[in-house]
Amino acid sequence: MKINNVTVFGSGVLGAQIAFHTAYHGYDVTLFDIKEELLENAKLKFEQFKTLYQKDINAASADLEAALLRVRFTTDLAKSVKDADLTIEAVPEDIRIKRDFYSKISTLAPTKTIFCTNSSTLLPSQFADQTGRPQRFLALHFANYLWKNNVAEIMGHAGTDPEIFNQVVAFAKTIGMLTIPIYKEQPGYVMNSLLVPWLIAGLDLYRNGVADAASIDKTWMKTLGADLGPMAMADLVGMSTAYHVTQSYAELTGEQQWKDRRDFLKENFIEKNKLGISTGEGFYTY
Ligand code: NAD
Repeated sequence: MKINNVTVFGSGVLGAQIAFHTAYHGYDVTLFDIKEELLENAKLKFEQFKTLYQKDINAASADLEAALLRVRFTTDLAKSVKDADLTIEAVPEDIRIKRDFYSKISTLAPTKTIFCTNSSTLLPSQFADQTGRPQRFLALHFANYLWKNNVAEIMGHAGTDPEIFNQVVAFAKTIGMLTIPIYKEQPGYVMNSLLVPWLIAGLDLYRNGVADAASIDKTWMKTLGADLGPMAMADLVGMSTAYHVTQSYAELTGEQQWKDRRDFLKENFIEKNKLGISTGEGFYTY
């Protein structure tokens, strides 16, 4: 099946980027959100993307203007999926919201439509049933600033049709992504399966008083010739995200060590508004 019309649900941090980028690569895009003012805000973000695309990937201004013309904005869910070949959902990372959302679009979208979720921490199998088309449902996960951090991880659940999986991999390539096919459902895909344990190892060395933040980073960077260590990376990702990750694992596993990590971050960083680079202080001062 040829993919022409792409619908993006949610115009927040990632949804706005996905919509703009997909249009930039020539697709007709519909961007849905629940309120008009959010869509107006997305239009402002698109203006900022134009500058960033010129700076970061040397985009031509005619191509950026053409991208803008390919995006339609709507708060009407039924209209947003009427002709969709493929949808990419970037609504909040909350299982209740996602389940409820898929129950609604399952009956509104044509049977041809492929559903992709951009969820970072939830598994497709957790809401495949609500889609009404589990075989045409999978995860297509982008990174923040996707025009330059152009890695897309594609992950189905046990019931995803391999043909659909391959179509989504092919689609992601057409929008300039380096595609990472994931053969088995796994929380955190490849990237976060590597990143989270590394960040947590740094955090544990620090909170157990084994070494200070600068020493932890220096050890990693000097030994491996890396640009960044785990503590500076935590400041970049942000302490709120780090806190939410530890909270999810604490809930998921019930293990005391995850609760201790969560409480440590809350007490020493979240409650003191030391959220990393965004607030000027985390493990380091900026
Ligand atoms: P966000 O909060 O910035 O945006 C979510 C958008 O969804 C908002 O515009 C909101 O109005 C809209 N929304 C709320 N309820 C809705 C509903 N019922 N139906 C439709 N839209 C609704 O969130 P985000 O950071 O863009 O994250 C969205 C998804 O992308 C999450 O699943 C997240 O895990 C994933 N993701 C985020 C990042 C990131 O760096 N922020 C990176 C990769 C993946």
